[in-house]
Amino acid sequence: MPLIAILPGDGIGPEVTAEARRVLDALDLGLDYEEAPVGGAAYFSDGHPLPARTLEVAKRADALLFGAVGDPRCDNLERHLRPEQAILGLRKELELFANLRPARLFPGLEDASALKPEVAGAIDMVIIRELNGDVYFGEKGMRTTASGRREGYDIMSYNEDEVARIARVGFETARVRNKKLCSVDKANVLETSQLWRDVVIEVSAEFPDIELTHMYVDNAAMQLVRNPGQFDVIVTGNLFGDILSDQASMCAGSIGMLPSAALNGSGKGLYEPIHGSAPDIAGQGKANPCATILSAAMLLRYSLGMDAAADRIEAAVTAALVSGARTPDLGGSLTTREMGDAVLKALA
Ligand code: ATP
Ligand code: MG
Repeated sequence: MPLIAILPGDGIGPEVTAEARRVLDALDLGLDYEEAPVGGAAYFSDGHPLPARTLEVAKRADALLFGAVGDPRCDNLERHLRPEQAILGLRKELELFANLRPARLFPGLEDASALKPEVAGAIDMVIIRELNGDVYFGEKGMRTTASGRREGYDIMSYNEDEVARIARVGFETARVRNKKLCSVDKANVLETSQLWRDVVIEVSAEFPDIELTHMYVDNAAMQLVRNPGQFDVIVTGNLFGDILSDQASMCAGSIGMLPSAALNGSGKGLYEPIHGSAPDIAGQGKANPCATILSAAMLLRYSLGMDAAADRIEAAVTAALVSGARTPDLGGSLTTREMGDAVLKALA
């Protein structure tokens, strides 16, 4: 029986993962679940954001459904004890280097998008973000300069193997979609980006059927708003991918709609909404659970090969939205639980 580790985490994490769990239960797929604490919740219960017992379950599970981490009460802790270290640790420990973030406008959400309806309607893309390198994992620190001023630094680095493996995920994703890949970098300024571009071009020789383009990240940010319909698959680094995918989410209606998968090539994956713990609305039943429900669908598809069940979940979310079900982020007034109910009703 496949084992799913559920790591609800902080803020709205427990509220949204509970709805995804209800949807999975309704499908009766014969899955096993084990829940474990992570993030600030784990710091308070176990003294560490990624306790050994959570890492043990994560390693044993076939796939992970993750809520969100982040708790303002932890802001002054030493960096290694902060909630965010848990997700960085899981990505590193499980070598989850490829983050797939589909962004598309669901039917009926044209008015929720930050863009004009006719522009927003064309959004259907996958942003592939590298997750194991870049400025997030380079040496970082704080020092005092000769003149006695404080100076913070974070080293940005990528090696060619890291770039090549994420480039391949990009090309392979393009191959099963519309055979177009746009690589986003800042090669006019950054050495890491120059290497990125060189390696992506080298790897492209293995994929002659894919049309490859390159774009600077600042231009990509502009194009995402001006004409998002031009993008199909974007592959980019850890930092640029973080920013561009939040931006794409607003174009697609709400940050509360977008799921993600973090994969390592073995079939195992960690699935989570792209949003964070949203402390400003935590515990109030205002969170949109769709991103997490859609993350559960990605889990079924990518880690368990249960495509039919994944299709059913995605169709149910679409049907719920079409029927007018909306949480406040989409301009409606349903609670998190009521939105979950609407999806369950559409499923039945
Ligand atoms: P992180 O650093 O973990 O990505 P963040 O600082 O980007 O976190 P989020 O927690 O994603 O912030 O929240 C950003 C904004 O979006 C907040 O105002 C939050 O209330 C809103 N938000 C996030 N997720 C949801 C959701 N599922 N439903 C409704 N609103 C949400
Ligand atoms: Mg964010």
